[in-house]
Amino acid sequence: MQNRCPHVLSMDELYAPTLKETPVEAELISHQLMLRAGMIRKTASGIYSYLPLGWRVIKKIEQIVREEMDAIGCQEVSLPVLQPAELWQESGRWPVYGPELMRLTDRHEREFCLGPTHEEIITALVRSELRSYKQLPLTLYQINLKFRDEMRPRFGLMRGREFIMKDAYSFGTDQAALDADYAAQEGAYRKICERMKMDYRIVDADSGEIGGSVSAEFMALAEAGESEIVYCECGFAADTEVCEQESCPQCGAPLQHARGIEIGQIFQLGTKYSEAMGATFQDEDGTDKPFVMGCYGIGVSRIAAALIEQKHDERGCIWPKSVAPAEVAVLALDGVGEVAETAATLAHKLAEADVEVVLDARPERPGVKFAEADLIGWPQQLIVGKRGLAAGIVEIKDRATGETHDAPLDEAVGYLVES
Ligand code: ATP
Ligand code: MG
Repeated sequence: MQNRCPHVLSMDELYAPTLKETPVEAELISHQLMLRAGMIRKTASGIYSYLPLGWRVIKKIEQIVREEMDAIGCQEVSLPVLQPAELWQESGRWPVYGPELMRLTDRHEREFCLGPTHEEIITALVRSELRSYKQLPLTLYQINLKFRDEMRPRFGLMRGREFIMKDAYSFGTDQAALDADYAAQEGAYRKICERMKMDYRIVDADSGEIGGSVSAEFMALAEAGESEIVYCECGFAADTEVCEQESCPQCGAPLQHARGIEIGQIFQLGTKYSEAMGATFQDEDGTDKPFVMGCYGIGVSRIAAALIEQKHDERGCIWPKSVAPAEVAVLALDGVGEVAETAATLAHKLAEADVEVVLDARPERPGVKFAEADLIGWPQQLIVGKRGLAAGIVEIKDRATGETHDAPLDEAVGYLVES
């Protein structure tokens, strides 16, 4: 490619093997589209490799999550995936966790598991060195792989046996501190969802195997969701199994029904782990007390799938700009000559203006380029053709609405930078 620029992703170099046919093994539309758009490939049941486009999406989601965690004062760490059984014996979960826990034995016959969640690791990590009330509250988080030997891992990234989660753990002196940490996480999760243009509801939840009392789930509304929820415009939402009535318990209005994908869950753990594992701090009055803990998970890889379930059409993915693998695709309808050169120049100008841009100047038919651009789901397309150029015009297409409009050649970059 002439004018090679490191900030312009070039379709002739990009490793994104697209598929024309819908893979038969994929039931969910998100799974089908991620395979067809060359974003992921299956390595084994419930285990996926991310190709460049899929990984770009994951990194975008991770970054949004990271920024919102940092914004509420959480500190990022990285905890081991491989966890010694002793810690799980201390918490009491080793015998009860069940077949979802991936257990293994090392060469010395010591037992380990691949972490499905990290309460034991984090509690053991801080218990000898986080000692004073003056150091509290503290919330640590990581964005890392999790392993769960799911019974039916058939829905692509939606339910993997290896998947990416952000998990945060808060340590406080008392219930009031936990309430504040929990509220801060809920607020951060709301912002995360809003930045990704996710249509979501928050429902009260059961805390399941993690333990604890107060808990809420963040549900992305989508037909493919495994949960059935009811919700009201006043903000109330609940699982249908919990709320069996037809009118809102908060305001009396008729409840709406929908299906939801659980993308995140927050828990008040209280002292369940700190007591079991002897994790205490010295309080102001000089006495030792167990930490009052919370844990907060959000499924990074599941969110990628949930966003597609929520927004797609018969042609492919429709990504919000904040998560898309790139913001703008410049399509050169000729792979050579003035059209290709103008397209490359426009792509470079966009890159210089900090717009993430991909250039498609391959020697392919325009129909192939349009179809792939729609399948991958770049939010905006800048289309450069011979006829338009003769009149000094390019075309701009919005992927979500499908609307196109002409723009004078010298105004197109400015328009895309603004929008
Ligand atoms: P589910 O009920 O769907 O199995 P969970 O309640 O067991 O999920 P949590 O322990 O609450 O999951 O984990 C926090 C988040 O991690 C979930 O809200 C979800 O977004 C994500 N997650 C959990 N299991 C998986 C999985 N198998 N594949 C992908 N993401 C997952
Ligand atoms: Mg959950």
